[in-house]
Amino acid sequence: MRSRRSGRLSRSLRPRPRPASARATQRASTSRSPHRTKPFTFHVSRFTLPRLQLRKLQSLLSSLIPANPFYTRKLGSHDSITTLDQFQRDIPFTTKQEIILDQQAHPPYGTNLTYPLEKYTRCHQTSGTTTTPIRWLDTPESWAHFVATWRQILTAAGVQCQDRFFFAFSFGPFLGFWSALDAVAALGCFRFPGGAMSSIARLQAILDNRITILCCTPTYALHLGEIAREQKLDLTSSCVRLIIVAGEAGGSIPATRSRIESLWPGAFVFDHHGMTEVGPVTYQCPAQPGVLHVIESSYLPEVINPQSGAFVSSSSSFSLARRSFSEGGSSSSKIKNQDPNSSSQTGELVLTTLDRIGSPLLRYRTGDLVRPRPRGVCACGSHELALEGGILGRTDDMLVVRGVNVYPSLIEEIVRSCPGIAEYRVQLDSRPSLPELIIEIEPAPGPAESSLPRHLEKALQSSLHLRIPVRLLPQGSLPRFEMKAQRWVKVCPASSS
Ligand SMILES: [Zn+2]
Repeated sequence: MRSRRSGRLSRSLRPRPRPASARATQRASTSRSPHRTKPFTFHVSRFTLPRLQLRKLQSLLSSLIPANPFYTRKLGSHDSITTLDQFQRDIPFTTKQEIILDQQAHPPYGTNLTYPLEKYTRCHQTSGTTTTPIRWLDTPESWAHFVATWRQILTAAGVQCQDRFFFAFSFGPFLGFWSALDAVAALGCFRFPGGAMSSIARLQAILDNRITILCCTPTYALHLGEIAREQKLDLTSSCVRLIIVAGEAGGSIPATRSRIESLWPGAFVFDHHGMTEVGPVTYQCPAQPGVLHVIESSYLPEVINPQSGAFVSSSSSFSLARRSFSEGGSSSSKIKNQDPNSSSQTGELVLTTLDRIGSPLLRYRTGDLVRPRPRGVCACGSHELALEGGILGRTDDMLVVRGVNVYPSLIEEIVRSCPGIAEYRVQLDSRPSLPELIIEIEPAPGPAESSLPRHLEKALQSSLHLRIPVRLLPQGSLPRFEMKAQRWVKVCPASSS
């Protein structure tokens, strides 16, 4: 039974009639590919890009040595390069652990600073999802580059100056959407920062302010849509035409996209990913949802085998670099050949920040698993590195269960394809010799289907050829997440029994 308070809220959530102009705007801009009817115009040409990357790298290295203590120690005499291949050959990887140790040894910001402290005007901090949080300082110049990079993402998404944004998360110390907010402001768009609000209050604000673009995690887009459904709120009457998602893999997973778009009729999901210590990195291919392009004018990407360090993909449009050094190695490290079957393999994304001179990262091992497409011109007109399926998960989460590769994004795709499941959690038996999974599911509101676990087990068996046990939990028993969802939980049966 609904309380008086919730009944009052439900009534207040009824959408107000929208003016004809707003409906006309939505009709004009809403379709499954609403934002791309003409070729991209912001891309650097594939002939210019390697030269631009090399010029930026040379400028970066000359700025770092000897001003930046971290990289002066790390690079030694390798303070200049003449080719991109040489950069990959001579410059060692940077790991998150190196940055953490440096900040612990030299608190609070470490020594990866190219300028005196007074030049830095912004501080952000990683979420610490997997490791100790790290702090990251930025100068006004590097921040301006972030805003410019976000402008490219917004262009790819088809954002127009008359769009009205709602940011459905609490702004915190992570870089998150801060740079997006500034880019949206630079475009002259209306923006509503929706921090510290309940889901119902956010829905109310989205309707009242005739929001056309919602920014949040894929999980939270699902959650908001479910709340609207529970409240009997018809979102077909909302003006939301685009949902820009980040922070999780779901935006490039077909089943998750489909579920979000079914809860938000007329809206199109646009994926993007970035990291606090790197910046905004990718945009969704305008021609193919489920593919992310790396913005290569700002980042030099490589994809490597996380175990061997061998290349899975070339790092530049021209240079078919086939050599790599092992993690943390120096010029004397052992050279490893490119994997001969690399074009369809997954690997770890490695990024070099070309514009963040004040606090750069050279060949940074992101820990993100990706599947690069072979180099070539994409259907959207871009030749920037394309990542099939977006971010597939973390290298820490990559599992081989009874000989089968299992990625978090794969489990997400299968679970979201199974109707009637509101939320799920994956329990991982942490014994390395025998990794096993158990999936817990929570049914969608309404009468619980006792056959749900059996249906999901069959779907898992069909896709993965694995028997994975599924447990049905009561409604409302699994946590909901506004930011990065924590659905993979390691358990140790020996200690828990
Ligand atoms: Zn494309």
